[in-house]
Amino acid sequence: MPFVAFVVNKIAVPTADLEQAARAAAAHAYAPYSKFPVGAALQTADGTVFTGCNVENASFGLTNCAERTAVFKAIAAGHREITCVAVYTPTMAATAPCGACRQVLREFGKDMKVISTCDGTGRSETTLSALLPDSFGPEALSAR
Ligand SMILES: [Zn+2]
Repeated sequence: MPFVAFVVNKIAVPTADLEQAARAAAAHAYAPYSKFPVGAALQTADGTVFTGCNVENASFGLTNCAERTAVFKAIAAGHREITCVAVYTPTMAATAPCGACRQVLREFGKDMKVISTCDGTGRSETTLSALLPDSFGPEALSAR
């Protein structure tokens, strides 16, 4: 299943489904160097779900995280607002998105919900504004 996108009649996708989609997306991760497969699933404003996985590169700096893969897929498909993202890591504790992903997510949903799920009992549910307070966003450029 190389691409997952489905619309659920503009009804918010249950977070459990989003978390399961993130978990499934990790199976497609290209992580030969870190051996740390990550999956992400996000929901856009109209209920469409996009998934992503991390894509590593021998030139490590070019590696792309699962969250950003999902964001870029959504934007490339014409969406501009993200309401929720779920991130799965194969760990015992929940792992929050990295700083780069927080900034990229910020562009498309300042107050989106951010869920982190893992193989253990750890799970976190927060907002992007809590993870990236006083953030820089598109409105800063339009306020010139
Ligand atoms: Zn990241």
